[in-house]
Amino acid sequence: MKNKTKLTNLLGEINKNINQLYHIATHDEKTGLYNHIFFKEVFGFELEKAKRGKPLSLIIVDIDFFKKVNDTYGHLTGDKILKRVAQVLENKLRKYDVVARFGGEEFFVMLPNTLLNKAKQIAERLRRSMLSDNYLKKYKITISLGVSEYEQKDNFEKFSKRADSALYDAKKNGRNKACVK
Ligand code: GH3
Ligand code: MG
Ligand code: MG
Repeated sequence: MKNKTKLTNLLGEINKNINQLYHIATHDEKTGLYNHIFFKEVFGFELEKAKRGKPLSLIIVDIDFFKKVNDTYGHLTGDKILKRVAQVLENKLRKYDVVARFGGEEFFVMLPNTLLNKAKQIAERLRRSMLSDNYLKKYKITISLGVSEYEQKDNFEKFSKRADSALYDAKKNGRNKACVK
């Protein structure tokens, strides 16, 4: 009986550790969002559905002039801003959308079952929500976004390159914009 209790406790402990490790492996420590590893994994599943005709859109979000923000207000404030941007993105998305921090000040948003027009609307909503957030307002934070929809024979690389090229257009055309490609 005693051994059984010990074993149950041990299994509970192992289970807890596995859950913690899983969380560490799939999340970004700074923002608490998913990381690129998790994002690519779930995006792969959605790509399989897209190949069979289910709409799928992708948005890449990049904070504008973030280097200057750090230079002006310091890296710690920069980190707080980064976290707030992550929160706003998460709050403004739908339950089944997935947002991840992909690197520095760049975020990927997966929009399952979403056509390009709707994705563009969502990107606009995200862009505007940065402007109306009281904390981000103080630092005049804006974001640029690149929006794209699944096209035949896309893989993750091709798809994200198109969204990245749309993001480049947004940067080139004055930032604080969402562009489509
Ligand atoms: P652009 O509008 O063209 O995107 O300009 P940018 O300054 O945002 O882009 P750039 O790629 O030149 O610089 C990105 C900056 O993001 C530089 C880097 O210090 C900052 N950054 C990246 N990761 C972090 C982070 O975790 N915390 C803070 N505070 N800053 C970060
Ligand atoms: Mg940037
Ligand atoms: Mg960047």
